[in-house]
Amino acid sequence: MTSKNQDLFARAQLTTPGGVNSPVRAFRSVGGTPRFITRAEGPYFWDADDCRYIDYIGSWGPAIVGHAHPEVVKAVQQAAARGLSFGAPTEGEVLMAEEICRLVPSVEQVRLVSSGTEATMSALRLARGATGRDKIVKFEGCYHGHADSLLVKAGSGLLTFGNPTSAGVPEDFIKHTLVLDYNNSRQLEETFKSIGHDIACVIIEPVAGNMNLVRASSEFLHTLRRLCTEYGTVLIFDEVMSGFRVALGGAQALHGIRPDLTALGKVIGGGLPVAAFGGRADLMQQMAPIGAVYQAGTLSGNPVAVAAGMTTLKLIQAPGFYDSLGVQTTKLVQGLTAAAKEAGVTFCADSVGGMFGLYFSATVPTTYAEIMAGDKDKFNLFFHAMLDAGVYFAPAAFEAGFVSAQHDDAVIDATIAAARTAFAQLAG
Ligand SMILES: *Cc1c(COP(=O)(O)O)cnc(C)c1O
Repeated sequence: MTSKNQDLFARAQLTTPGGVNSPVRAFRSVGGTPRFITRAEGPYFWDADDCRYIDYIGSWGPAIVGHAHPEVVKAVQQAAARGLSFGAPTEGEVLMAEEICRLVPSVEQVRLVSSGTEATMSALRLARGATGRDKIVKFEGCYHGHADSLLVKAGSGLLTFGNPTSAGVPEDFIKHTLVLDYNNSRQLEETFKSIGHDIACVIIEPVAGNMNLVRASSEFLHTLRRLCTEYGTVLIFDEVMSGFRVALGGAQALHGIRPDLTALGKVIGGGLPVAAFGGRADLMQQMAPIGAVYQAGTLSGNPVAVAAGMTTLKLIQAPGFYDSLGVQTTKLVQGLTAAAKEAGVTFCADSVGGMFGLYFSATVPTTYAEIMAGDKDKFNLFFHAMLDAGVYFAPAAFEAGFVSAQHDDAVIDATIAAARTAFAQLAG
């Protein structure tokens, strides 16, 4: 007998490539049948076969206050009743911009968009427009959405420009994109020394979350800030994932660094499509309609999405919100680490705020190469053992995990208990 998940997956593949609307959902990395989700509440979601899972992806970050939070749902319902979209400005957008600027002080002006991809793509265009330079720098393993010039992996050596990571991206589009090693200050210095005056911007995930969790060292980020200032290069922090996730003010607050531009997304939409880019007012003033850099969006600042985002931004400012989120996330990674050790499985874990990484390696990775050296087969076995036990981790070894404010002690303890069994199976 096949399950409803299997039925839906078979049907989905007839009309949708791979059966999914975003690749990682397809379970291709871990194998097996993706779970089709029917509902979610707090730290849980349920699949089409009515199996309940403790959810550690939280929609890849947005569900920071827990799924279907009553206040968020109410705000969305009320906004929807007043009309779904106007194509004209609303007070909600003013309030949201004011709130973002207040919470992220480097953001003096901001524009709302509908996806992280749009946010980074627009920030890049602005940086190029403002500097009159074409070259951009990104780091291996960082993901910034699927804009052409960012779908690039490292070339064969330092100062060789990158190779496309997707078919359909012309060499011509990426010939200006240089890919450097994450956390390699020396390589960064050398690059700036040789071509710094041609670099429009450097874009970075200050806490990387798309090659699994990898922290940038403070020394690396401060070197980056110094070099960008020295060479008139725009520093873009892509905090689509880390913003309002690792701390209220994002990774820039943790490191005390002011980027020139910041891309936001995920948490600021609270589960609906809101993203944003913003930063120095003198840069943002170069955006249309007052400046020469064009960018637009039919559903940008959508009133229903803004209602979800604003309510989420209010909830995360409750006293002690991030302290408690950090404590729960630490409890989870420490518990998993102890369970692996008991079973004699090579494993470690790390977390920043409400975001965590699980690694089947002896030490916490600091680069893409170290991440790639982890034991992917072990991860896949662990993933499926946990899934069978009702715990849903990211279905790929190279993704971060997310804890919400609804992951209480009982939920964390249940996860660790399941992990003890899973690690024991791996060892045995
Ligand atoms: C998710 C993500 C993006 C892309 O956002 P979408 O809303 O999926 O387009 C960009 N940058 C980072 C760091 C992300 O985590």
